[in-house]
Amino acid sequence: MKPVIALVGRPNVGKSTLFNRMTKTRDAIVADFAGLTRDRHYGDGRLGDRDFIVIDTGGFEPDSSTGIVREMAKQTKQAVAEADVVIFVVDIRLGLSAQDSDIARYLRTANKRMLLAVNKAEGMSESPLLGEFHELGLGEPHPISAAHGQGIRSLLEAALEPFEFEEDGETDEHPDGVIRLAVAGRPNVGKSTLINTWLGEERLVAFDMPGTTRDAISVDFERNGQQFKLIDTAGLRRKGKVFEAIEKFSVVKTLQAIADANVVLLLIDATQGVSDQDAHIAGYVLDSGRAVVIAVNKWDSVDSYQREQLKRSIETRLGFMKFAPIFNISALKRQGLGPLWGGLADAYSSAYKKMTTPVLTRLVQEAVQHQTPKKVGHFRPKLRYAHQGGMNPPIVVIHGNSLEGITDVYKRYLEGRIREHYKLVGTPMKIELRSSK
Ligand code: GDP
Ligand code: GDP
Repeated sequence: MKPVIALVGRPNVGKSTLFNRMTKTRDAIVADFAGLTRDRHYGDGRLGDRDFIVIDTGGFEPDSSTGIVREMAKQTKQAVAEADVVIFVVDIRLGLSAQDSDIARYLRTANKRMLLAVNKAEGMSESPLLGEFHELGLGEPHPISAAHGQGIRSLLEAALEPFEFEEDGETDEHPDGVIRLAVAGRPNVGKSTLINTWLGEERLVAFDMPGTTRDAISVDFERNGQQFKLIDTAGLRRKGKVFEAIEKFSVVKTLQAIADANVVLLLIDATQGVSDQDAHIAGYVLDSGRAVVIAVNKWDSVDSYQREQLKRSIETRLGFMKFAPIFNISALKRQGLGPLWGGLADAYSSAYKKMTTPVLTRLVQEAVQHQTPKKVGHFRPKLRYAHQGGMNPPIVVIHGNSLEGITDVYKRYLEGRIREHYKLVGTPMKIELRSSK
C-alpha cells in the first residue's frame, strides 16, 4: 500500500508550494469540510517508481488565546493520524517561533515518523540559522526550497526510506483472474449499503478475512463463477462472523483502495447529481488508469424529471469518462444489481485484453486506409506497425515515421477503431507513438 505523507506547519511556510512540487495529479482531491477556509488536500506523489500519497493541511493557525485555532488543529490532527510520515515544515527566513515549538511538542506525542523540513533555504543550506531548529527535537533539519525545487529529493528519500515498494506495474501486468474491486464515492452515496447488500446475499460466499496489512481489510468472494476481492474503502469491519461496512469516509483509504484495485466502481447519488467531489474522485480514478464502472445509486427515489437532469449532469461533468458504462441501481431495494456484476466483469476483461502485434498492425493499417493522417509540412506521418505496451489500462504502441504530426483528433480516431474491434468497455486506453527517423 502506498505510504502517506502529511505536511504540517503554520500558514505561509510553504506547505502548498511543497505539496505542488510533490504531487503529480492535476486535480488533488479536496476533502470538503464545511466551514473551513482551507481544507485538506490529497494528491499522488512519485519518487522514481515509488508512489506515495501526500496530504497538505491548512495548518495550525495562530490564535490569541490558545495559539491554535481549534478546527485547523483538528484537521491537522486527523491528517497526522492518517499519515505514516509527517513532514513538519518551518520557514528559515522567519526563524524559530513559539508556534513552531507548540506544534513540535504536539508532534512529538503523535508517535509517527517525523521529518523536519526547513523551507525557503535557497542559498542558505549551510546557514548557521539551520542549527536553531535542532531545538525542536525532531531530528536533523532538512534544508529545502519548495519554490526552487532544492533538497526535495533527499527529503523524500529520507521520508520513504523505511517503506518497501513493489515493482511498478507488478500486479497490473499479471492478471490472476481476480477482480480487485474498490467501491469509491463520497459520503452517503450508499457504499456501505451496497457492500452490506452484496455480502448479505446468500449466493455470495465471503471467505475468511486474509492477512491484513496496515489496517487494510479486504473480502474475497465469488459471484457467477468470477472471483472478487473487495478492497476496503468504506471502512469495512468484521463483526463476529460477518463483515459489515461501517459509514466512515476516508480520502486516504479511497486513494489507497483505488491504487490497489484493478476495477473501480464509482457510485453517484441519484438524488444529488454529480457534485464537485464526485468529479474530483472521477478525475483521480481516471489518472490512476484503472477500469471504471459507474453506478447511479438510489435510482428508486428519483422521478423521471430528475432522471433526465441526472443524465445531463453525467454527460457534462463526467464527459471525460465516456468509456465507463453506467448502471442505475438501488442498493437499498436491491434493484439493478445483476447487470452490474456483468459490467464489472466486462471492464476487467477489457482492461486485461490481449492484443497481438499482427492484429494491432492490421487494425492500424486499415484505419490509415480508411482515413490518412494529414501532411505536416513536407511529411505525412507514416504508421508502420503496432504492439501492446501494457495492460490495465491497455497501452498500444504505434511505430512509424514523422508521428509528431499525428493530431489528438487522429489519435482518438485510432483509439475508437481499436476499442471497437476489441469491444473495450469500462477501461481507459493509451496510444503511444514512437517515431524512428
Ligand atoms: P502554506 O500556507 O504553508 O501552504 O504556504 P504557501 O505554499 O502558500 O507559501 C507561502 C509563501 O511562501 C508564498 O508566497 C510562496 O511563494 C513562498 N514560498 C514557498 N516556498 C518558498 C521557498 O522555497 N522559497 C521562498 N523564498 N519562498 C517560498
Ligand atoms: P456511504 O456513506 O457511502 O457508505 O452511504 P450509506 O450506505 O451509509 O448510505 C447513506 C444513506 O443513503 C443511508 O441512509 C442509506 O439508507 C441511503 N441509501 C443507500 N442506498 C440507497 C438506495 O439505493 N436508495 C435509497 N433511497 N437510499 C439509499
